[in-house]
Amino acid sequence: MILPVNGKFEMPALPYAKADLVPVLTAETNEFHYGKHLQTYVNNLNAALPGTAYEGKSLEEIVKTSEGGVFNNAGQILNHALYFLQFAAPKEGNAPTGKIADAIVRDFGSFEKFQEEFQAKGAGLFGSGWVWLSADASGKLVITQEANAQNPLTKGLTPLLTFDVWEHAYYIDYRNRRPDYMKALWQIVDWQVVNERFV
Ligand code: MN
Repeated sequence: MILPVNGKFEMPALPYAKADLVPVLTAETNEFHYGKHLQTYVNNLNAALPGTAYEGKSLEEIVKTSEGGVFNNAGQILNHALYFLQFAAPKEGNAPTGKIADAIVRDFGSFEKFQEEFQAKGAGLFGSGWVWLSADASGKLVITQEANAQNPLTKGLTPLLTFDVWEHAYYIDYRNRRPDYMKALWQIVDWQVVNERFV
């Protein structure tokens, strides 16, 4: 749960340096995507909250109950926190481990089949949004496309892994090649973090 500190939401602290994800994501991408885009959502939400019923509420609670500008900025802070905190330095042949590895095989047949469906849903999302791996209430894994600032939480799902497919996530490093960006991201997924979300 992400809570405000002294009435303000803070930037999620990155567990790596901005250049640590090279060559998958450059330091420049992290400087713009984390340092400018995410910072703007944080600033906008903090400016919008005073005097509203959302003051003091957790980010997840705000996402579940708000709409309009408050929802858009809160949703984007939550989405980006889940996105940036799920990465680690690139590993050749990086693959799921533990409980999530077993559930992926159970629900998609294999890691390769899961990757194929996840990438196809990310590539096929028209406009700006996110592709998600989530667990439903019974623990079954599902892949969903969410437009703009939407998060699977609002559908009663538990978000586990996400690829940001807004152009700002990949345009510096991959220009218009969204599929290449998604294919590369598998090298930096920290499956330990995904397992911690899958309770
Ligand atoms: Mn983004």
